[in-house]
This record gives sequence, C-alpha cells and structure tokens, in this order.
Amino acid sequence: MPASDQDGNTSPGPAQHTHADDTSSPGAAVDAGAARAAEVAPDELPSGPKRIAVVMAHPDDAEFVCAGAVARWASEGHQVTYVLLTSGDKGSDDPAVTPEQLVATREAEQREACHRLGVEEVVFLRHPDAMLVPDLALRRELVAVIRRLRPDVVVCQDPTVRWVEQSYLNHPDHRAAGEATLDAVYPAARDRMTFPELLAEGLEPHKVREVYLAGAKDPDVWIDITACMDVKLSALRAHASQLGDWDPDEMVRTWAREDGVRNPDGGEYAESFKYFKLD
Ligand SMILES: [Zn+2]
Repeated sequence: MPASDQDGNTSPGPAQHTHADDTSSPGAAVDAGAARAAEVAPDELPSGPKRIAVVMAHPDDAEFVCAGAVARWASEGHQVTYVLLTSGDKGSDDPAVTPEQLVATREAEQREACHRLGVEEVVFLRHPDAMLVPDLALRRELVAVIRRLRPDVVVCQDPTVRWVEQSYLNHPDHRAAGEATLDAVYPAARDRMTFPELLAEGLEPHKVREVYLAGAKDPDVWIDITACMDVKLSALRAHASQLGDWDPDEMVRTWAREDGVRNPDGGEYAESFKYFKLD
C-alpha cells in the first residue's frame, strides 16, 4: 500500500520539493556544545543545547518530513518536544475500529516513535482530525503551549503547500497547523498585550528564534541525516496502524537521497527545510 496518511494521501516528502538556491545550511546552527546557562535572559539566544518544539497536525507527519533532523538534534543533546494538534482519529478505513480506539493506538505509536528518536515529551492537543481551522482559538492555544515550553526553535508544516505536482493534494490540517503555528510564533507569543488572559495565567511572552518549515515548497536549508536514516525509518515503522504491510524504506531513502544532492555535509541522505532566523 502507498505511504498512507490518516486521509489516505501520501505525505509530502523532501524529494518532492526540489527548488533550491545557494543559501548555506544553518542546520549546523543548532549545534551541540556547552551546557545551557542556568539563567538565560528572555531575549538571549542560547549557544548551548536548545529547546526545540516540533508542531504537527497528525501522528506520523513528523516522521515523514523531519524525523532524521529530530534524531540528529536529540543525539546532539538538544531537548526536543513534539506537539500534536490532532491524534489522527480519522486515520482508518476499518469499520471495526472506533475513533477512540484509533486515538489510543496512534498516540501510543507516536510515543514509541518519539522514544526511538530521543524526543523527551509529547503533547497531544486532541483536536478532531480533519477539522483543524487556523482561527484565533487555535492561535491562542498554541501561544500558550509556546509560552510554556519556551522553545528556541520551532519546526512546523508549510502552510503554503496546497498541492505537489500532479499527485498530491496537501491535507487541510497540514496547512492549518502550519498557519496557526507561524501566527502563534509571530507575533502573538512574543507580544505582551496579545491574549492578556495568558499573561494573567503566568505565561510570559516568549520569542522563538528559529523556525524550520518541514516538507516546504521552497526549501533553503538541507540537514545531513545520513547517520540517522535507520532511526528515522524505525520511528516511521512505529506507526504500524498507518503503514499496514507497506515498507517505507525505499520511498523514504529515495526522497532523502534526492535531498542529499544538496547535503552541505556531503552525506548520502538529507532532509530539506525553509528556514527563518527571527530577530
Ligand atoms: Zn498528516
């Protein structure tokens, strides 16, 4: 069976996005090194281990588009947290499976995938699958998450990907998740007077310093995942309810090999991103 998402569509992969420019990779900007200082000023970009939040619409989304980079970052000592907006409760055609059973299965699969990747925490916001709307309520919820987690780096989906070539219509949840996340990062999470009820709850403003769009239409950063390919595939295989009998090995390696052409470190496999460094 094809690489099936909860909607039956194939998740967009790096190899489907071959636009390129000459920007060098700041992927290495997420560098391992000195331990985080005990006290970090709110506006100071830490030079040591970073907090990275990966915000995705569904269980398995991150494994397709960015799990290699996640595994690499985790192995380098960065603290990675996943935030899942839905738990993929529409992701089965089996009439014997209830949405509640599917939520339990898919959350367990996501937790196992995260365990294999070295991701420390998974936050499930449990919005209904296939119903995500990037409205002010979702923006406020994500602002609260960002202000609580205080990530230096946010990885999310590209809200501008409407389709890919002649074979893929992007899931509306992927676009909604990306749009709501970017709008939460800037300006709402950093502005003191936006959502004052969150401030009243003790959630102080927070500036995210770096954003990576995974599965991006116009990538400008390539991260070497050669050493992490086996871990990425292992994490992807944790989503057994979505894979069925299909082995993702060949397709995922093909995508990563095509992105590997732009690999700044010269390795065989890469993942591509649209990157932003915010002031
Ligand atoms: Zn998805």
